[in-house]
Amino acid sequence: MEAIQKKDIRKLSLAQLEEFFLAQGDKKFRAKQVYEWLWNKSLKNFDEMSNISLSTREMLKTHFEINHILVDLMQHSSDGTIKNAVKLYDNKIVESVLIPTTKRITACVSSQVGCSLDCNFCATARLKRMRNLNPDEIYDQVVAIKDEAETYFQRPLTNIVFMGMGEPLLNYANVLEAIDKITSPEGLGMAPRRITVSTVGVTKMIRKLADDEVRFNLAVSLHSAINETRSRLMPINDSNPVEELGESLKYWYEKTKRKVTYEYVIWEGINDDERHARALAKFCKIIPSKVNLIQYNPIDEGEFRQAKQEAVDMYVRVLESQGIIAKVRKSRGQDIDAACGQLANKNEVGELNTN
Ligand code: SAH
Repeated sequence: MEAIQKKDIRKLSLAQLEEFFLAQGDKKFRAKQVYEWLWNKSLKNFDEMSNISLSTREMLKTHFEINHILVDLMQHSSDGTIKNAVKLYDNKIVESVLIPTTKRITACVSSQVGCSLDCNFCATARLKRMRNLNPDEIYDQVVAIKDEAETYFQRPLTNIVFMGMGEPLLNYANVLEAIDKITSPEGLGMAPRRITVSTVGVTKMIRKLADDEVRFNLAVSLHSAINETRSRLMPINDSNPVEELGESLKYWYEKTKRKVTYEYVIWEGINDDERHARALAKFCKIIPSKVNLIQYNPIDEGEFRQAKQEAVDMYVRVLESQGIIAKVRKSRGQDIDAACGQLANKNEVGELNTN
């Protein structure tokens, strides 16, 4: 007899699982029971599915396997931030971060192994893009952080941001499927408004999000509202310039009525002058929005330096004088390279070097 090639059961939708059970001469509702064990309870083996009969469990084992990510290394920052190095089924590594504040526990998750975008201030860009993450690999990162929130903080996970490695809008279908699972009652039942997807500004995909009428939040890594500067920082701006970005965001707002958050780093000698601050304020008028001024996290000895406090104060003044909300964000987890733009599998590289 030929051995059955085992499939990853979590690749099946609920409808496909229902079909499978019906084809086996079993009841349709069995699928929902198994599906809840797989997603809501995140079980890693069939034997723990206590309301499923032994014979059904054995049958499932002959057809399927359950692939799961593995948290390979967990690092704790002095500020409470936790960084997970997550090993995937093909031994590739991505990173995710738990960020605790007094009010929230946020999971920052990766959507790709590496990144293709070449933003020249970001450590992840140095890795290049190796592959897209599957929906379950994204979902599992969230579950790992949810468990850590309960274990280390005795608090629930409150928010999810797609601000780890990779460009979520270039892995569109898988990211949306993961979010679907995260928000569905059979999954984690989280409210979409607690989820934020951050993009470098892929205008075509921002329009697609709008057409799909998604209910989560959108953040855009802007860093400059002046083409010349933005192209220098982020090569994506050559094909997706500031004006087009503005147009796509207008479209987003018309369809979703959701405001956007702009992420913005101020660098010395690059965008720390009033001309850039005023251009940002003007861009912010396109649709309702707010600005997160994030601190630069040095990734090497290169050309980039965080701007002086006076420049940050000047930005806040210019923005606030025009009624735009601007928040200055402190960096978290810098001592373990867990801060924005620092995710680069440093430990893995270190290990490889010493072997
Ligand atoms: N590709 C998506 C998701 C990554 S989010 C995006 O670009 O939005 C990571 C955020 O950290 C982005 O806003 C990015 O611009 C910012 N970032 C990258 N490198 C950084 C660094 N060295 N210091 C501070 N922020 C950085």
